[in-house]
Amino acid sequence: MTNVPEMFGSLVFNDKAMRERLPKDTYAALKKTVESGTPLDPSLANTIASVMKDWAIEHGATHYTHWFQPMTGITAEKHDSFITPSGAGAVIMNFSGKELIHGEPDASSFPSGGLRSTFEARGYTAWDPSSYAFIKDGALCIPTAFISYGGQVLDKKTPLLRSMKALNDCAVRLLRALGDANAQRVIATVGPEQEYFLIDRELWKKRKDLIFTGRTLFGARPPKGQELEDHYFGNIRPRVIAYMDDLDRELWKLGIHAKTRHNEVAPAQHELAPIFTTVNVATDHNQLTMEVMKKLADRHGLVCLLHEKPFAGVNGSGKHDNWSLCTDTGENLLNPGKSPETNLRFLLFLTAVIKAVDLRQDLLRLSVASAGNDHRLGANEAPPAIISMFIGSELTSILDSMQSGAQYKGKKGNKMQVVETIPEFMADTTDRNRTSPFAFTGNKFEFRSLGSAFNIACPNVMINTAVADVLAEFADVLENAKDKETAVKKLIAETYAAHKRIVFNGNNYSDEWVAEAKKRGLLNLKTTPEALPYYTREENLALFARHKIYTAQEIEARKDILLENYCKVINIEALTMIDMAGRQIIPACIKYMKTLARTIESKTAIGFESQTEKTLLAKIDALTSAAYQANQRLSEATVKVKSVAGVEAQASAYRDTVFTAMQELRAACDELETLVPETDWPMPSYADLLFSV
Ligand code: ADP
Ligand code: MG
Repeated sequence: MTNVPEMFGSLVFNDKAMRERLPKDTYAALKKTVESGTPLDPSLANTIASVMKDWAIEHGATHYTHWFQPMTGITAEKHDSFITPSGAGAVIMNFSGKELIHGEPDASSFPSGGLRSTFEARGYTAWDPSSYAFIKDGALCIPTAFISYGGQVLDKKTPLLRSMKALNDCAVRLLRALGDANAQRVIATVGPEQEYFLIDRELWKKRKDLIFTGRTLFGARPPKGQELEDHYFGNIRPRVIAYMDDLDRELWKLGIHAKTRHNEVAPAQHELAPIFTTVNVATDHNQLTMEVMKKLADRHGLVCLLHEKPFAGVNGSGKHDNWSLCTDTGENLLNPGKSPETNLRFLLFLTAVIKAVDLRQDLLRLSVASAGNDHRLGANEAPPAIISMFIGSELTSILDSMQSGAQYKGKKGNKMQVVETIPEFMADTTDRNRTSPFAFTGNKFEFRSLGSAFNIACPNVMINTAVADVLAEFADVLENAKDKETAVKKLIAETYAAHKRIVFNGNNYSDEWVAEAKKRGLLNLKTTPEALPYYTREENLALFARHKIYTAQEIEARKDILLENYCKVINIEALTMIDMAGRQIIPACIKYMKTLARTIESKTAIGFESQTEKTLLAKIDALTSAAYQANQRLSEATVKVKSVAGVEAQASAYRDTVFTAMQELRAACDELETLVPETDWPMPSYADLLFSV
């Protein structure tokens, strides 16, 4: 038996540890920094560092590291031990305030998008006291922001913290304008649901594509996929539940509120959801969760795939970013309450989000753009590439009636009585919409377009900043209004009227919606190379400058890094395919053709017909030639694309030439897989991979 409350947070230097160990006034000062964002007095750093170190050593740590989130999307760490020579060959364990507050990793090997030249290696990491330090792999990990020598942002945390400040400032201003004198802070809260696949490690080792790219680049469809819908919420197999148990425990120790676990739609696909927290901590925790997921799989003889589309033909994996706004007085500003039609503050914040999403469709779309996620968006398994919002029929009619001035005729939830012995309950007033990219789900929005491998920081920077900007505009209007109630109603009605094109409560997977969205003038940015250039749209540069999130130069750098990443990913996939086709698949086919030819020869010698063998041989021969030629074309395409000038044009060229050639090669090889005996095929099949755990 495990005592979960005792285990929870045992590897975290959390509030409890701080309260117990820090001097009273130091604890109070640190808590104030964490809770209200006031700068920490540097003179306290030595005390905090020393206490933190003692705590860490007691919990088995020998090292410390600044833990940060460079533009690679994964976290980075460089361990330093606590040892300090104390004379006569002895050491003591030491950790200074300076070492806690700031570090100086060599920044030259992290993507900077040209923000610094390679010879300017200096970069700084700076302690983020609003996210607790924790122990991992024997090292005290200190969450930090990462910037260049020149002060430019090189990471994902810094802009997120900035966007939280912008959102807080603007939201508090608006609350004041509405007459709220209590709330001192407004925080974005986030709960990210994480999807993943688990496959057998021994099989994984036999697939170069999984090893190098995280997804299968070849693979004929197995006889059974997800069509029976028998995996979603199905009972969890023993090996998987053992893994999930272990995972929950490890996450709990790290103070992560792992809450929900279940099987997902595709075979071998699962989901984990934590309880929501502040967006900064949620981001750190999600990064940690992904890391622990991968590490623990190893212990169970499994591999955890976080790629957005590991297998063609079954659903890929996403991440749902549940986002809301909470005051320090504990109020959820997106909670409609019992009668939303009279809850003007709720309706005002709701319309602010509607306007923000409409104005910044491009930013939301590009924040979820990647080579991996391109496989999902628009493939009827994830929301389409078109950004729209679901708010449900009740809120739609409330806003419609506010716009038209008509009386809202309320609809109350139905009482549900299943059978008499089951307690009755109230049904929600609106259903859910699982096809919408940005769906209101009762008291929060669920941004459903994120890819499973994403760092959630960037999408949340977009939401926070876009909403902050509208809240500031609303505050401008309302601060000067004489009759507040009338002004609020007018603002809601006008804003909704101007931006309601973004609201769509229907089926986002339908072709009619694509046509309708076009009519409404909504963007439909189907691929990463189409989406990313919108980063530097004039209005977006102005938005980020206004709220001090990014300079124009920093955005330019980010766009380049992401486009380059897209090119590199496709390039690695192409090279892996060329290798697998050229050195595994085609040779296997040739070998089987030899067996067939010999069979024909010997059968003919003793007077037998060999019609079946001949037909099969001809078929395989033709397909092998097709595969060979497709492989040649792919090879050539990977060379030719290098000469395309400019990263935007190059990314498009990768999509149009290399990616297209990859699909042709795959088609020929997948058909060959259905003709060549299982024993001769050089890698595990989809059936093996998807149904063996
Ligand atoms: P569903 O997606 O089925 O609605 P849940 O209601 O359990 O599932 O919520 C999914 C995620 O949303 C969880 O991580 C949960 O903690 C998070 N969530 C719930 N309320 C909020 C909120 N106010 N702000 C941010 N996230 C929230
Ligand atoms: Mg959900």
